[in-house]
Amino acid sequence: MRDESGTACYTVHDMTDAHHLPNVFSSIVATACRVVPGLSHVDPSKILVCVRKLPPTRLGETLGLRQAKARRGHDSVFSTMVVGGREILYVITFNVSLVSTSAPARQALETVMHELWHIAEECDGTIRPVRHGKGFNAAVADLHDAYVSIGGRLVPTFDDHARVRLRHLRGKGRPGVLSVRRGLSLVLALPKAWKGEWTEEDVRERTTTLSKILPATFLYACPAGHSVTRYRVLKKPSSCAVCSPTFDRRFLLKRKTA
Ligand SMILES: [Zn+2]
Ligand SMILES: [Zn+2]
Repeated sequence: MRDESGTACYTVHDMTDAHHLPNVFSSIVATACRVVPGLSHVDPSKILVCVRKLPPTRLGETLGLRQAKARRGHDSVFSTMVVGGREILYVITFNVSLVSTSAPARQALETVMHELWHIAEECDGTIRPVRHGKGFNAAVADLHDAYVSIGGRLVPTFDDHARVRLRHLRGKGRPGVLSVRRGLSLVLALPKAWKGEWTEEDVRERTTTLSKILPATFLYACPAGHSVTRYRVLKKPSSCAVCSPTFDRRFLLKRKTA
């Protein structure tokens, strides 16, 4: 990049000054809860926000700490978490890939709204009893548009060289899966016999370079110009799903070269 005088400009990367991604997402969550009427029931102080690498097709996860896996005839067993003196009822984890410059434009903000929409109207540590699907996505789109129309800050993106701070929760037995839809997100429930107690000791942070943790992506294009991202090199001939719902040789995907 050159400035007006024609001399080269350089950005100095301060290696100690990483972008604190949990704080970036937390502040967007807090703003959304304050300005979007559909999220007025959510108390952001009850949410612990984590950012880490998740499987490439999973953009976010929501864990309700009062949501036990339903099993008839048993009382629920819950976990507790106190971080920084506040009682946590939800842990929302975002995939670090959302802040990559190669992520689709609306994806990060829609994922924030999606995860917040999982929070029950009571905001009591339970999950909204609504399944993923058209209705869910429509509600998420409304939340997204309301937030944007009020001028809410977008999720920033960072180049591959950026230093980023991540946060995850130390595992104490993997919570069970309550609801999953491929390419979207996950609602987690604690197993019935599980009683956990999390403290700040279990909240782990680390700094890394974005390029070190982003999944490798492979770009393909169809003859009509649709762009398709895959996380593996395609072994078999594949055709564009936009152009044809079933395999069609006319719409073969071709690897893009950088
Ligand atoms: Zn979800
Ligand atoms: Zn196509």
